[in-house]
Amino acid sequence: MKIGFIGLGNMGGPMAANLARAGHEVTGFDTADVTVEGVTQGHSAAEVAQGAQVVLTMLPNGDILRAVAAEIIPAMAPGAVFLDCSTVDVDSARAVAAQAQEAGLSALDAPVSGGVAGAENGTLTFMVGGDAAGFETARELFDIMGQKAVHCGPSGNGQAAKICNNMILGATMIVTCEAFALADKLGLDRQAMFDVVSTSSGYSWSMNAYCPAPGIGPKSPADNGYAPGFAADLMLKDLRLAMQAAETADADTPLGEAAMKLYAQFVEKEDGAGRDFSAMLPRFEKRGHG
Ligand code: NAD
Repeated sequence: MKIGFIGLGNMGGPMAANLARAGHEVTGFDTADVTVEGVTQGHSAAEVAQGAQVVLTMLPNGDILRAVAAEIIPAMAPGAVFLDCSTVDVDSARAVAAQAQEAGLSALDAPVSGGVAGAENGTLTFMVGGDAAGFETARELFDIMGQKAVHCGPSGNGQAAKICNNMILGATMIVTCEAFALADKLGLDRQAMFDVVSTSSGYSWSMNAYCPAPGIGPKSPADNGYAPGFAADLMLKDLRLAMQAAETADADTPLGEAAMKLYAQFVEKEDGAGRDFSAMLPRFEKRGHG
């Protein structure tokens, strides 16, 4: 397939490289002028979009996505697929998809989970909103870049799935860290706590697969000084998107809001920036220790 790829950062770079390695003809563009192995370097977003069957975008936020969309939609061939894999607000995803469809294109919002390691290893999960025909065209690309792609319904539903998932993740990580800090104060051994909770009704991915306590459970960023992993800054971004969506939709999300406020405090006022999102545990441990 002839593919245009816009946004070759931490995630987009390895995703584009995997598509090229699988034999697709990939032309890329990034304002930071990065080069990616196997990917032909284009000079503008419009140039890489021209004549491509699928144009992928992997960009920082909704405003940048809207600006790039305005540039590439007029350049894309009718019937081509506009495949955005960035994490952005639901409104931007739906607005961009509507513009693409008006221009005779297929549009998919397909945010990912799995992080940089998933992008490098081709093991991402894609949560996809948009039309079925576009999903079928993109399926073979999802298979190269990831291990699973779930079609979640019409445009914007991929972003909706992503922020709902990450709202659960943010809240469960916080309460798992709170529980470890409380257990410490009650004299409950961390290993015993893990052995009980991981096989009882308090279990979650945060406890069982990504345990925030060093030396407990499977290997996780806690065992590596809380180097990310999934950075607290990115969790804050996703929680803010969730709260923005909740406000627009008039949904009641008190724990999501509490999680967003706590990550904002941690990242912007404490030492959370650049640390893994599970570094909430040492934050809670500090109470009573100066
Ligand atoms: P990044 O900052 O490393 O990459 C974004 C790239 O977009 C940069 O290289 C930047 O130069 C480029 N860019 C910005 N404006 C541009 C423009 N107008 N035209 C062309 N290129 C432009 O970010 P990332 O970590 O690769 O994340 C990309 C997206 O994936 C974000 O929406 C993020 O929330 C999401 N995401 C990231 C992770 C992760 O672990 N890093 C996990 C899941 C989802």
